[in-house]
Amino acid sequence: MRLVLLGAPGSGKGTQAARLKTDLAVPHISTGDMLRAAVAAGTPMGLKAKAVMDAGQLVSDDILLGMLEDRLSQADAKSGFILDGYPRNLAQADALDQLLAKIGQPLDAVIKLEVPNEAIIRRCEIRFAAEGRADDNPDTVRRRLGIFAEQTAPVADFYARRGKLQVVDGVGELDEVTARIKQALQRDPAVANG
Ligand code: AMP
Repeated sequence: MRLVLLGAPGSGKGTQAARLKTDLAVPHISTGDMLRAAVAAGTPMGLKAKAVMDAGQLVSDDILLGMLEDRLSQADAKSGFILDGYPRNLAQADALDQLLAKIGQPLDAVIKLEVPNEAIIRRCEIRFAAEGRADDNPDTVRRRLGIFAEQTAPVADFYARRGKLQVVDGVGELDEVTARIKQALQRDPAVANG
């Protein structure tokens, strides 16, 4: 199963991907987690990315594509993946299409988690208090939501036009949202046909 999870920051992509990966028996690939690991390890790329991330902006497409290409070439991604946080703009969606065509592994499904902005802002406040992520401070969350609306929302349309997009209500108990995603995946023809 090759799945892309779309959704605003704080919509629950990471939480849901972590729950789904066992069932789907594929790795959870979060570009945000990979970048945070690079920042924590102090790699040259991490040092470059940190200020951009703390400001809630997008890291360059070139860096992301290189990182993703490396990750998808690892053995565990041969069985598929849940991609969380990529693609974040149309250029990345195109790059992903080309990359997956090159390795002969097209996407099976794209799920967008829909959560209203007021709920997102509350969730990020809670995460800011718990984890202290600089980009979860309220001003930066508003900037990230603006970038999402401008740059990432068109990615959902890109997949809708290809008949791959399913929109799932991301509000509710974690178990409920997980169940909704699983139902949506069963409805997906690519999955239903194995
Ligand atoms: P996330 O954990 O997915 O919210 O990502 C945290 C931050 O990492 C984002 O606000 C961006 O600065 C950066 N980032 C993660 N994924 C991408 C991506 N696909 N393109 C550009 N920047 C990204």
